[in-house]
Amino acid sequence: MEPVGADGDGDGSTPDYRRVDVSVLIVGAGAAGARTAIELADRGVEDVLVLGKRGHGDAHTTWARGGINGALGTHDSEDEPAIHAADTLEEGHFLNDPEMVETVTEQMPARLRELDEWGMAFSRTDDGAIDQRYFGAQSFRRTAFAGDHTGESLLDTLVGKARELEVPYRENVMITKLLSDGVESYGAVGFDMDTGEFVLFNAGAVVLAAGGYAAVYNRHTSRDDENNGDGPALAYDAGGTLADMEFVQFHPTGMAVDDGDPEWEPWSGRLVTEAVRGEGGRLYNADGERFMERYSPDQMELDARDVVARAIAKEIAEGRGTHNGGVHLDVSHRDAEFIAERLPRMYERFAELGVDMAEEPVEVAPTAHYGMGGVRVDAHGETDVEGLFAIGETMAGVHGANRLGGNSLAETIAYGVVAGERIAARIDGPGVVPDAIVEDVVEPHLAELAATAGRRGTHDVESLIAELREVMWDHAGILRDAASLEEGLDRLDTVREKADDVRVGDVTDRSFEFAIDLGFMLTVAETVLRGGLERTESRGAHYRTDHPETDGGWRRNICFERADIGRTEPHTVPVGRPSDAVQAALDAGYELDYHQLE
Ligand SMILES: Cc1cc2nc3c(=O)[nH]c(=O)nc-3n(C[C@H](O)[C@H](O)[C@H](O)COP(=O)(O)OP(=O)(O)OC[C@H]3O[C@@H](n4cnc5c(N)ncnc54)[C@H](O)[C@@H]3O)c2cc1C
Repeated sequence: MEPVGADGDGDGSTPDYRRVDVSVLIVGAGAAGARTAIELADRGVEDVLVLGKRGHGDAHTTWARGGINGALGTHDSEDEPAIHAADTLEEGHFLNDPEMVETVTEQMPARLRELDEWGMAFSRTDDGAIDQRYFGAQSFRRTAFAGDHTGESLLDTLVGKARELEVPYRENVMITKLLSDGVESYGAVGFDMDTGEFVLFNAGAVVLAAGGYAAVYNRHTSRDDENNGDGPALAYDAGGTLADMEFVQFHPTGMAVDDGDPEWEPWSGRLVTEAVRGEGGRLYNADGERFMERYSPDQMELDARDVVARAIAKEIAEGRGTHNGGVHLDVSHRDAEFIAERLPRMYERFAELGVDMAEEPVEVAPTAHYGMGGVRVDAHGETDVEGLFAIGETMAGVHGANRLGGNSLAETIAYGVVAGERIAARIDGPGVVPDAIVEDVVEPHLAELAATAGRRGTHDVESLIAELREVMWDHAGILRDAASLEEGLDRLDTVREKADDVRVGDVTDRSFEFAIDLGFMLTVAETVLRGGLERTESRGAHYRTDHPETDGGWRRNICFERADIGRTEPHTVPVGRPSDAVQAALDAGYELDYHQLE
């Protein structure tokens, strides 16, 4: 994968670069990367470097609010890891890897206690235990939380622990390429976003913990300029396999705003917590009809995320949406005091925008929230490339066709530990980047980066990113069909062609970061569209209007490997079987209850 616009104005020579030798390079410093670093330090591995595109402690993880799962049984003593696994498989519509699911569920009770010992500010019961609440589609209260700032508290705790263990961190470094011959991993190449210096990291093992890809959609809940698919795209380019990319969780209620209004526009797609519906919020279409009566007469607004999101999308698609492309969410039958007490952040946010939720409805529409797919890894988080690990939101396998709320934070912690364990058991210093890789991969790539910087092409990079996001929203959104997915691929080709002729600033300019990201996004977007086209059934978060039924024969994961440059060819692999304990929990048929959540 070459950077966009790489055949531009450069003279083709390799720019200067610094060489850094480390035993383990961790790309990404959210919960997953931080937890891996702690495990390695605890096990005596020296010479670990964690780096991220942003400052220390400033990662997407901080936006997680509702909680983190683990069968502690604080309130419901009958809960256990096998039931947690069974719930995860059911919500994942049995496309998850059962072994990976159990890796998470088995570990989490102990990992939550460990986080507690490290000082995480968990909310507590009256008698001081870690409190747990209901989260969507779970049989028991197993979601531990720290008020409504669980992610922030988790990352603070992990960063504090990593500092205590003196794990080195480099901020504002962006990785642009991983070094591998498709079989073995040797390190990575990137640049310092502050100084513009190019860097070659020679590493014995690389852990990719670079987040997900939900921000390839124009309406999304991710932080600005994050979750553009860096992790999956980097691994794919290095010879890793991507799986389940077609499964994207759309949250039913993101803010629907007037995109022409500068005050509202930044809020487009931002999460309106499910607690608004939990506190009695009702959904109405533009005709004033409480439409959930037609889609889910029993559960109404409190049905599962994918059901409510599809219902809203259908209302909008069939012309019953509001002027701003949403529906109304109305909690105005509650009084101001109640709303301010139960939904303080929402009440405040809308009040600042001049809307009193106690007096009038707000406008909402579905928004891309989480990519269930990612890099295919084994039970220890290792990819098909030896020495290259992919964990946290970058990996695939745990969530299947739909994610159980509270499981992604759990996955970051559990896989941080198992990847750390595996690496510690066999790491033996930084290794050596073979001369052939330096000549054939590193130097041409650096020359391409240099050619991209300062490129004076026709198209503005940010406009192309916006165009790509629009393509994905229009063609790989909640309701999909073959004709639209194919049209999406054609439109993506147009973006790809334009990307060869971009206008980019120098290496320290934000447009340079965006140009690299555009390359990542093109890869990821193509696999989402192609995966969606290939899967001729509806399952979990993937809904094909031309194939509305679930097809038992499709209990397979769609995988992409880089067959050759510029092509993505999928193949499918069958899903494994759950352990006896998890099968017994599935057979027991614990009731999945759609209790409301943050
Ligand atoms: C609004 C919102 C609420 C959520 N609430 C919950 C919840 O309540 N419970 C739950 O379980 N999950 C929740 N999630 C999901 C959860 O927050 C994420 O899945 C999880 O935090 C991902 O952590 P991570 O460590 O894998 O990646 P991130 O936290 O995304 O970290 C990625 C890291 O990689 C770095 N990086 C990325 N690309 C590069 C590159 N090219 N070079 C160098 N560094 C790079 C970034 O700088 C960052 O340090 C929520 C998500 C959203 C959007």
